[in-house]
Amino acid sequence: MIDISGLTKHFGGGPVLNNIDLQIADGERVVVIGPSGTGKSTLLRCLNFLDVPQAGRITIGDVTVDAAKAGKADVLALRRRTAMVFQNYALFANKTAKQNIMEALVTVQKRSKAEAGERALAVLAETGLADKADSYPAALSGGQQQRVGIGRAMALEAELMLFDEPTSALDPEWVGEVLDLMRAVAERKQTMLIVTHEMQFAREIADRVIFMDGGKIVENGAPSEIFGSPKDARLQKFLKRVE
Ligand code: ADP
Ligand code: MG
Repeated sequence: MIDISGLTKHFGGGPVLNNIDLQIADGERVVVIGPSGTGKSTLLRCLNFLDVPQAGRITIGDVTVDAAKAGKADVLALRRRTAMVFQNYALFANKTAKQNIMEALVTVQKRSKAEAGERALAVLAETGLADKADSYPAALSGGQQQRVGIGRAMALEAELMLFDEPTSALDPEWVGEVLDLMRAVAERKQTMLIVTHEMQFAREIADRVIFMDGGKIVENGAPSEIFGSPKDARLQKFLKRVE
């Protein structure tokens, strides 16, 4: 169970996240949509403290952190319950696909190198990249790099997987294989919070869709409601533009 309440973030100016409340059930897939600059990335980044929120409470599984008084141990505990997939893959250029997946298993999860290596190879097989284990990112296509990025997050077996526009940086030819891998992740009942502009994919994969605008959740409902009968004028306008 994920429970976010009163989450608030500013970077010095006005609020970028304005008192966000959101609950996500175990195994639920929630897709976040909205115009650019509305705080979607910041929401994801506050859940693992890549951005530090000024106020709010975040519960992920058995960990609850109060943003206003979060210490190092709290931040680490929260990070261990999340895994993030970034728009630009964020792979280590000087590490192979296998080493990229091993990294957090060794440094964060304190697994032995042998165990981390086995886990990395198993995950690479699941992502269809078994033959790329020893390839460096520069030798991989964009789609392959992002599949390594997703594999790295899968390997952590985190309570919550965060995806921040995982296909937005890809050439169109690579989008399909990345969405296919995300479908496979979803089939394992992994709890997922996904920011995407792929509306067809959102309709298909989401249990629930959230529309954000101006640092707030404006509308929150089943895909059939959000896409079929949007209520808020801002959502109606947004959908006209992207669909
Ligand atoms: P989205 O992902 O919806 O496009 P973001 O969460 O990236 O939006 O950004 C929301 C707002 O916060 C934007 O106005 C952006 O300029 C601002 N912002 C994001 N990160 C920073 C930062 N590190 N420093 C200052 N402003 C930021
Ligand atoms: Mg963003």
